[in-house]
Amino acid sequence: MHILVTGGAGYIGSHVVKQLIETTTHRISILDNLSTGHRSTVDTLNQIARDKGSRKGITFYHEDLKHFDTIKKIFETGSFDAVMHFAASIVVPESVENPLKYYMNNTVNTTHLIQLCTAYNVKHFIFSSTAAVYGEPNEPQVTETTRTLPINPYGRSKLMSEQVLQDATQAHKDFSHVILRYFNVAGADIHNRIGQSFPNATHLIKVAAQTVIGSRENMMIFGDDYATPDGTCIRDYIHVDDLASAHLRALEYLEEGRDSSVFNVGYGHGYSVKEVVLTMKEVSNTDFSVLMAPRRAGDPAVLISNNSKIKSVLRWSAQYDDLALICQTALAWERTVQN
Ligand code: UDP
Repeated sequence: MHILVTGGAGYIGSHVVKQLIETTTHRISILDNLSTGHRSTVDTLNQIARDKGSRKGITFYHEDLKHFDTIKKIFETGSFDAVMHFAASIVVPESVENPLKYYMNNTVNTTHLIQLCTAYNVKHFIFSSTAAVYGEPNEPQVTETTRTLPINPYGRSKLMSEQVLQDATQAHKDFSHVILRYFNVAGADIHNRIGQSFPNATHLIKVAAQTVIGSRENMMIFGDDYATPDGTCIRDYIHVDDLASAHLRALEYLEEGRDSSVFNVGYGHGYSVKEVVLTMKEVSNTDFSVLMAPRRAGDPAVLISNNSKIKSVLRWSAQYDDLALICQTALAWERTVQN
C-alpha cells in the first residue's frame, strides 16, 4: 500500500510513520508544511528506514494543505491507497482567539482532502480526532456514544471534520474511515530519536519536563478546588507510541474490509495534575518550583476514556501504560531538544 501521512513531520504523525517503517512494508509519503513539524524529523525517519534496509526511504512533500491545486497534483500522481490525516492546529486557547484559523486549517482543509480521496479512489482514511469533541461530559469515563458537545472552536472544528468524513463515507461505498479520538498524549520514542518539539507548549507533561531542565523557572497548577480527591484535574495520559500503534491497528482493520467506525484511544484510567507533577519530580530527582494558579477556562474536572471498544474491536492493547515511563521519555526528549 502507498500511504499519505499529512502532518507526518509532527509529533504524533512521526511516531506513526516510525512504526509503519519498522513494522510494515508500506510505501510512505509525508505531506507537511513544517509549521510545527521539523525537517530533521523527516531526516530521522529516513535514517530509520535506511537502518531497516529500505533503499527508497520516504517521499516528502513540503506543502500546505490549503494549496488545493498543488495538493490535487500530488493526488494525481501519488496513487495513494490510504491517507492518515494528522496535519491540524491543536491549541485550544488559540482556537478561541482565532477560530477561523481552526475552521480553515482543520475543517476546510480536511474537507478538501476527503474530496480528493473520493475523487482519486483512496480506499481508507484515518482521522486524528480528540476527546475535546466531548466537551465537559457528565460521566467521568466517556464512551464513543457519549454526547459530543465541544466547548471550544478546536473541538468543534474536529467534530465537524468527523461529520464531513462520515457523510462522505456514506455516499462513497468504496471509501472507509476510522476516527480516533485521542486523550492526553505525552512522552516520546523509547530510543529518544523523535519527540514533541513544539514552541510555547501548554501540555502538562511537556511543561513539567521543561521546568525540570530549567527552560522555565517554574510551572503552575491550574486549580486545586475541583471535585476530585486532591482537588486537581484528572486526565487519561497515553504514551505516544501506544497512540501510534492504534493507527496501525486501524489501518489493518480497514484493510480487512471492516465498517467505518470511531474509537477512543486512552488507557481508561487517569492521574491528577498533582500526581503527574510528583511523578515528574520523582523520575527527574528534581524539586522544581510549582505555583498554584486559578482554574484554566474550559478544563473539565475529569476526562477519562472508556477504551473497551478499541480493545475488543481493533484488538489494540497498551504497551507503555506507565506514568513514570511517560514522564521519563518526555524528559529525555526535552533534554535532547534543549541541546
Ligand atoms: N495543567 C496545569 N498546568 C500546566 C498545564 C496543564 O495545571 O502548565 C493542567 C490543565 O489545567 C489540565 C491538565 O493539566 O487540568 C491537562 O492539561 P493539558 O493542557 O496537558 O491537556 P488538556 O487536557 O487540556 O488537553
